[in-house]
Order: sequence, then structure tokens, then C-alpha cells
Amino acid sequence: MVPNIELSDSTDIPQIGFGTFLVPPDETARVVAEALEVGYRHIDTAQGYGNEEGVGEAVRRSGLAREDVYLTSKLTNSKHAPDDVRSSFEETLEKLGVDYLDLFLIHWPLPTRYDGDFVSTWEAMLGLLDDGRLRSAGVSNFEPDHLERIIGATGRAPVVNQVEVHPYFGNEAVRSACASHGIAVEAWGPLGQGKSGVLEDPAVLDAARAHGKTPAQAILRWHLQRGDIIFPKSMHRERMAENFDILDFALTAEEVAAIDALDKGASGRVGPDPKTFDRV
Ligand code: NDP
Repeated sequence: MVPNIELSDSTDIPQIGFGTFLVPPDETARVVAEALEVGYRHIDTAQGYGNEEGVGEAVRRSGLAREDVYLTSKLTNSKHAPDDVRSSFEETLEKLGVDYLDLFLIHWPLPTRYDGDFVSTWEAMLGLLDDGRLRSAGVSNFEPDHLERIIGATGRAPVVNQVEVHPYFGNEAVRSACASHGIAVEAWGPLGQGKSGVLEDPAVLDAARAHGKTPAQAILRWHLQRGDIIFPKSMHRERMAENFDILDFALTAEEVAAIDALDKGASGRVGPDPKTFDRV
């Protein structure tokens, strides 16, 4: 049974979900249908991925009740103007074919765009909570000072901050800022996007071998034991099943410490730096 994490607005989110970045739109319905068959009940998509329709189609075809699948999407970078937030959210509901969304995130803070004003974007996101069609509001790629600004201005913290986290980039400053405000961390790129080399790291291989598990399973288990929410992505059913099968073992404190020690700080990032990322 996948554990739930209780968010600060008293809603529950499954700690393990399925990611859909770079899942091509014409393959999304197939891929997400397989993930639901494997047992995932939490799907992470984004307006910017162009595949919300496929996610919605898979959920509808699965025959699962709407309330049994947790759905997250994200406000795309070109829609930060407060007037665009609601219409853009409506489009997401339409593309997914649902009448409510569990979680909507500001995808990137874009501090060098929109005159640096992501505060009014956050206010507009909070406004979406009023009529019940959005259950929870959060952010993604927010650095500690970005979090301080939106919380200072509105008195309301996002329920989650979805940021890059994997053994080569622990993102500790952001994790501790989140902890101090009761914000749950969602770890994107939990496997280092399959390209950081972390899946071949000796500390990971040792931990995997000790439990008869694969390197990906050892890394995903490390995330779970840190309390982060994860949604690894795979186009392949065997890997979807592998990544989901991480509840029957636990890393020892020594194994966790050995994987913690792999953190390379900022040089371990595989994705862009949110302080400068400005693609719209
Ligand atoms: P992941 O860390 O989940 O890695 C995905 C890559 O790893 C793919 O190339 C996949 O290949 C490969 N892979 C998956 N499972 C295994 C396995 N068991 N063994 C070996 N290789 C494996 O990266 P993502 O970037 O996809 O991150 C997860 C999710 O986080 C995204 O899908 C998206 O939903 C979200 N995200 C959010 C961002 C944000 O800015 N908020 C940014 C990036 C991601 P294959 O598909 O061929 O199996």
C-alpha cells in the first residue's frame, strides 16, 4: 500500500506517483494506462508537457473513480499574468476532462520575467481554491527567497514545492526552507533523469545489491525514507513496475548516509537553475 502524505491543507497525496515529462502526447494515453494498471494512483503532468489530454483519456478509460486518482498539473511559463491564471486552469480541466484538479503548481518562479512578480501569480493561484475546482495549490522550482516572498506577501504557504532532488543534488537549502514552513517536498528527476550517472554510482550499487534490488529501486527507496514525494517517469512497463515495487524493504541508516554523502551541491544539478531559468 503506497503511503499517503498529509499536506498542510489537510489533504492527502500518495507518496509515489508517475511522472510524464517527455512522454510524447501521442503515446501518453498508452503509457499512463499502463502506469495505472501497474498500480500508480498519482499522475504528475503539466501544461508545458502538452500531454494533459492523454492523461485524462487514460484515467477515463481505466474505469477508476475520479477520486481514486490524484492529478497534478502546472501553470505554464507564458501564463503568469494574474488574468491568465484562471483561463489557463480552466483549459487544464478541459484537457484532462475532469471537473476538479487535486493540485496545481506554478511551474517556475521566473524571477527575471514579469518584473519579478510571481507574488501576484501566487495570489491568483490561491483564488482558484475558492470554488472547489482546485483542491490544493503549490509551487515548483521555488528557491528559499522565492518562498519567503510569497508567504510574506500573502500569509499562505504552498502545500508543496516540486524541485529537483536526487542523490547527486540533495537541494538541502530548499528542503530545509520547506520544512520550516510545513511545505512538502516533491522530488523531480528522482533518478537524476536517467542521465546523471547516479544509477551506476558504487554507493547505490552496494545498497541495491544488499537488498536484492535494482539501483533505481535503491534510489527511490532513499527518497521515500527522506519523506519526499516522488513520481519517476518511464515509457516501459517493466520499469514502471520496478519503480513502484519499493515498499518491501528498507535501507539501513548506513546505506542512507552513504547515499546522502553523494550530494555534489549545485554542480550535481541536471536541470536548470531556477534563479536564472527564464524560458517562456
Ligand atoms: P526521472 O528521474 O524520473 O528519470 C526518467 C528517466 O529515467 C527516463 O529516461 C527513463 O527512461 C529512465 N528510467 C526510469 N526508470 C528507470 C529504471 N528503473 N532504470 C533505469 N532507468 C530508468 O526524471 P524525470 O525528469 O522524468 O522526473 C520525474 C517527473 O518529475 C517528470 O516526469 C515530471 O512529471 C516531473 N518533472 C518536473 C519538473 C519541474 O520543473 N517541475 C522538471 C522535470 C521533471 P525510459 O522512459 O526510457 O524508461
